[in-house]
Amino acid sequence: MENSLRNKSISDNREIILAEEQPHNPGEPDSSKPWCPTCELHTEYHLKSRGSKTATFYTCDVCGGRTWKPTLPLPILIVSVLFVLFLFFMGLYAVIELDDMEGLIMFPFGLYAGYILYNNYKSNTKHWRTFHKWAKAQRQQAKRN
Ligand SMILES: [Zn+2]
Repeated sequence: MENSLRNKSISDNREIILAEEQPHNPGEPDSSKPWCPTCELHTEYHLKSRGSKTATFYTCDVCGGRTWKPTLPLPILIVSVLFVLFLFFMGLYAVIELDDMEGLIMFPFGLYAGYILYNNYKSNTKHWRTFHKWAKAQRQQAKRN
């Protein structure tokens, strides 16, 4: 009786064995992991310390450059264009409908936002293309081996 109680307590207190994370092969293409365009590898990375909570940019531990997940460029472009159009629309609405000249501020602001978003889109597209070119080459190499 006493023995069975002890056994039960042991099994209850059994440590939950955490599934050990599979070490990822840095040469294996995986678009869900940050990929460094300088090293052309899924290098080890760390989060940029001064980044915001939503930062998706990491620092590559190998070259110290920026590394991030390859993201499909089209949705980014659509969201960016819609956002800028929305700003312009707000400005137009304020000026025409509300007769509020302060709405004019939305135009330079919209252009500025568009400029930032366009640069972001451009660098992301480049990253996406480089990653996929690399991924294709990796896969072909894997086939050969
Ligand atoms: Zn790197």
